[in-house]
Amino acid sequence: MKHFKVDSKASVGLQDTRSITLIVPIYNEEASIPTFLDKVTSVLGEVGPDICFDVLFVNDGSRDTTEQLILTAAAERDNIGLINLSRNFGKEAALFAGLRNAKGDAVIPLDVDLQDPPAVIIEMIALWLDGAKVVNARRARRDNDTWLKKQTANAFYRIFNALAEHPIPRGVGDFRLLDREVVNAICQLGERSRFNKALFSWVGFEAEEVIYDRPARTAGETCWSYWKLWKLALDGIFASSTIPLRIWTYIGMLMAFTSLAYSGFIFTRTLLFGVDVPGYASTIMLILVFGGINMFALGIIGEYVGRIYTEVRQRPVYIVRSQHLAKNTEI
Ligand code: UDP
Ligand code: MG
Repeated sequence: MKHFKVDSKASVGLQDTRSITLIVPIYNEEASIPTFLDKVTSVLGEVGPDICFDVLFVNDGSRDTTEQLILTAAAERDNIGLINLSRNFGKEAALFAGLRNAKGDAVIPLDVDLQDPPAVIIEMIALWLDGAKVVNARRARRDNDTWLKKQTANAFYRIFNALAEHPIPRGVGDFRLLDREVVNAICQLGERSRFNKALFSWVGFEAEEVIYDRPARTAGETCWSYWKLWKLALDGIFASSTIPLRIWTYIGMLMAFTSLAYSGFIFTRTLLFGVDVPGYASTIMLILVFGGINMFALGIIGEYVGRIYTEVRQRPVYIVRSQHLAKNTEI
């Protein structure tokens, strides 16, 4: 793993103190919170006086003692904030709530289960101080994943990058550093169905990269069943591409032409050799020609409907039940 010395950047004086907000979406994570806070505090203590931090937890409708645990920690330390959503909206929405409310000059979304090791943040900051607007953390291997998880993840990246307008880098999750400029750009994107990884790559900006080994979860269990992952993958693909929709235009066109040719054949055969079954030729011609044309037309309508559908409901991405914002950003 590469190592960078953060305070080697002599040009960052005290007057240039910069702030970083760690965004932590949490859903029923009472078992992970104490270890997370200990680890983050000890790692970030090493960063030096030029950078100050605050941790913004987004409680995504937890039903355990997650909220109380965070409020207790926030009572002891000024740099902990908490946003409670009104129910479980899913990690993507929770992360968006965090991005909108983060105050830092840069933000870093990370998981509370320490699968995104806080130590990597030190490398990210060094690259940020050198001018990077985005620092992606890419996992070196998927050793802790099962065979099926590895295969499905690979298939997802392959399909997504074949269909989507903007590719997403493999092995890079939400754990990354985003400069304020990038966060502002992301918050400008008004869509309701949010697949953050795709939005992060859509806004562009030069990205640097750090490589890390992703450890297993410290406590608790993953909330992502294969069913949930499947739905997330579909959301990602359909929110970032129009090819699955448009392809029906071509299939419909092909069917219409084939049907037309086949109808021509049946028509000529009937003229030359007479009628086998009365009405058969005209019936089959109509079914085939209109079936093809219908699909073609449906493809065109689908082009529009697919685009309108997600936007037209205009629902907010999440609802905030209550919030407790960090008082200051010292660690
Ligand atoms: N999470 C959330 N809402 C959900 C599911 C998960 O906020 O509906 C949070 C969870 O508490 C954790 C992060 O998202 O901090 C990543 O979840 P998890 O570790 O279960 O995902 P995995 O690492 O297995 O992909
Ligand atoms: Mg995890």
